[in-house]
Amino acid sequence: MGNRQRSEKCKKIIKDNLLVLLMILAVIIGVSMGLGLRSQVSADDKKTIFYLKFPGDLLLNMLKMLILPLIVSSLISAMSGLKAQASGRMGFRTLIYYFVTTFCAVIIGIVLVVAIEPGKKRESAIERSGSSKAAEGLSSLLDLIRNCFPDNLISACFQKVETKPQYEKITIYPQTTPAPNMTGNSTITIETTDTTMSMTTAAPKVIEGKLLSIGIEIQSGMNVLGLVVFSLFFGGILARLGEKGKPLIDVFDCLHLVTMKLINLVIWYSPIGVTFLIASKLVAMERPAEMFTQLGFYMLTVLVGLAIHAFIILPLVYFIFTRKNPYSFMYGMLQALLTAWGTASSSATLPITMNCLEERNHVDPRVTMFVTPIGATVNMDGTALYEAVAAIFIAQYLDEPLNFGQIVIISLTATAAAIGAAGVPSAGLVTMAIVLSAVGLPVEEVRLILAIDWFLDRFRTAVNVLGDSYGAGIVNHLSRQDLEEMDLEENKQKYLTEDKTNGLVNDSYDTKGDHSTKM
Ligand code: ASP
Repeated sequence: MGNRQRSEKCKKIIKDNLLVLLMILAVIIGVSMGLGLRSQVSADDKKTIFYLKFPGDLLLNMLKMLILPLIVSSLISAMSGLKAQASGRMGFRTLIYYFVTTFCAVIIGIVLVVAIEPGKKRESAIERSGSSKAAEGLSSLLDLIRNCFPDNLISACFQKVETKPQYEKITIYPQTTPAPNMTGNSTITIETTDTTMSMTTAAPKVIEGKLLSIGIEIQSGMNVLGLVVFSLFFGGILARLGEKGKPLIDVFDCLHLVTMKLINLVIWYSPIGVTFLIASKLVAMERPAEMFTQLGFYMLTVLVGLAIHAFIILPLVYFIFTRKNPYSFMYGMLQALLTAWGTASSSATLPITMNCLEERNHVDPRVTMFVTPIGATVNMDGTALYEAVAAIFIAQYLDEPLNFGQIVIISLTATAAAIGAAGVPSAGLVTMAIVLSAVGLPVEEVRLILAIDWFLDRFRTAVNVLGDSYGAGIVNHLSRQDLEEMDLEENKQKYLTEDKTNGLVNDSYDTKGDHSTKM
């Protein structure tokens, strides 16, 4: 090979991988900048951190802006373009893959946390900082179903609902603290002779009493699940309208095309945004050394579990079904994986996930349009693994032994909780309530793992995105016959229409006839 040829080849490799290289560079610069700035900027300097995050916020806004048109146009286009049988088969394969891989992730998590026992290996008492954002278990499950059917489609674009129970507040005063008069209707003051409390608690403790009221509260944030369900049905019905539905199908096809072109632009900005997102997060990190020593084993368990799932289980499943190299597929997704790591949001990463699947891994757009929006909403292997580990870790820390039945309940509820978690930062922490309350553990103990959540969130989000991507690759492979048949059918229709307009149509149309010469 001559020098010129070699340099041409080099140029081509760099050109083909430019975005991935830029993204790797972005992560390296972001981490070095963040660590470097820690000596100059204190974690309390909220103003500097706020400005440092600005380019990252812009990236998040751009990605989030694209989610709505992307999800709606992708699902409606895909459903209206697929034949009922093909979409049924594709849907079935997708759901089986999602369920099996999520459950595998949970099992890996459980095996590791039971073997390593991170909750028992504590060097010092873990600080229970902050208040838990967790909701009630059953309510969270019902909210998941309620959000599938929004009462208003427009408000679903920026709001979702959440059940909010109101409890009576009971303040318990240890004997050493004098009890003040009762304040407010719902506050009962009890003086306790509980000796443990008197010794360990200096301040009064507030606990929840009986249920006063229960109702639905509006939360800000897109109701992605509601939009997914609506788009699936809307597209499915549109496909059955035949010629009448064609103009609307064209509108959504066009909307999808434009959105994908916009993604192509945003993608070039992502390395800059990711650099500043990472740097600002590292600067804002409070007492990292303490956090890592207190929760080191827990963190290790989650990370080892995620690594096993990402580098062994998922690639193995992909290889078994497709007989293709899973690691070159993973490399094709690198841009999306790094974005997921930088943003901690699989929904915000969705545009880039779809782009990587289509452009770099050559997955059929009809498959990505159908599989990935659903995946980004319900398929979260990383989150499921983390929920199982976290729940058992909390039980170990509190010295509450779990029996086999309870571990089975954890595996099932962790799968459900992962399905219910939205693709936004720390969503898994909120749905932890489903798992904890199912086995009778105190929901507020989520505080134990609060300090480290932002860090683990990045890794589990990347695994969530990887799971969706391999899913698209597998469904693409398994559905190739359906897709070929649809292509043939489409060509046949095209020629029929062309012939009709040329006045050549005859009743005995034969696909293998003269038309083949036109191809
Ligand atoms: N941040 C995760 C995601 O967007 C969800 C979670 O586990 O908190 O996929």
